[in-house]
Amino acid sequence: MIFRSWAEIDKKQLKKNLENVYYFAKKDIFAVIKADAYGHCAKFLAKILQKYKYIKKFCVATALEGKELREAEIKKDILVLGGILKEEVELFKDYNLTPVISDFSQLENTKGLKKIHLNFDTGMHRLGFYKSDIKDIVSFLKENNISVEGVMSHFPSADIDEEFTKNQIKELKKILAILKIFHINPKFTHLQNSAGLVYPCDFCNAVRVGLAIYGEKPFKNYPINVENIMSVKAKVISIKKLKKGDKVSYSGTFIAPRSMYIATVSFGYADGLPRNLSNKGYVIIKGYKAKIVGNITMDMIMVDVDSFKDKIKEGEEVIIIGKDKDLSITFSDIAEMSGTIPYEIMCGISKRVKRFFK
Ligand SMILES: *Cc1c(COP(=O)(O)O)cnc(C)c1O
Repeated sequence: MIFRSWAEIDKKQLKKNLENVYYFAKKDIFAVIKADAYGHCAKFLAKILQKYKYIKKFCVATALEGKELREAEIKKDILVLGGILKEEVELFKDYNLTPVISDFSQLENTKGLKKIHLNFDTGMHRLGFYKSDIKDIVSFLKENNISVEGVMSHFPSADIDEEFTKNQIKELKKILAILKIFHINPKFTHLQNSAGLVYPCDFCNAVRVGLAIYGEKPFKNYPINVENIMSVKAKVISIKKLKKGDKVSYSGTFIAPRSMYIATVSFGYADGLPRNLSNKGYVIIKGYKAKIVGNITMDMIMVDVDSFKDKIKEGEEVIIIGKDKDLSITFSDIAEMSGTIPYEIMCGISKRVKRFFK
């Protein structure tokens, strides 16, 4: 193995996660594979996912992400959640992408496209039309002969705010009723994300799921059983002995309390390990927990291996994220320690970390 840091993506666990999500949601799935499938390599993942019948579409954030999938011979519908800008119109046509439209300026750019989805703002205030826009939307669509294949909204707080989320569901229901008066009856209505799957939505017939497919639970006690499909690994590249009082790494923030052994591991913040885990995070080597000592550097970390130094050697595999027997480190664990969310850690695993599907 020539790579010093790599990620292994477990196809069997992917299948389990998907089946558990589908069994729970009982609706068509739009697999959200934006940002290179949250760092999991969108084109390989999409190849695997496209054989599942209940995966009806893929969702990406930008037209260029859609283009990349088409170039990898992904045939299923691709929904571009971030809409369509003027300079992207040709991309949408050339690569058969479907935009989600959220405002009148973007609506202008849909002339000549076959179908679109409409996004309504039910409380997030990031993107989306308001209910009061419907009349004008409908006249534009009629004039330009554009059909609405789907209608959606998005939950910003399904993991923490039940009342807010339930109101959003009610609001979208009202929107659909108004659209119906104008004879707009979309084939797909989609609202729920991973966290939102726990809210019943009887008028929705598809769900947009990202996080749960990758095996992270959006909140504690999430009722769907999923596990990380990606484990992230590196190598011991050197083992060294410290004397009492020796300082480790940049700025010398770790001072050896006694004579001890540390290992230098080929994984740093340029690979995606947040630097604020310096002196805080840990890795797993040969079934032992090894604490990060000193500041995390761009390409390497130093870890305390004193209690099992004799069991390891240069080249030893190191688990940055993953599990080994009863020890595990998940994306959530890292996110929690560094004060962020698992999404950010997942899509922050960098290009240097070579992805393998097993
Ligand atoms: C990213 C995204 C999703 C997926 O959210 P998860 O929490 O990863 O399931 C769904 N809908 C929209 C609009 C998104 O931007």
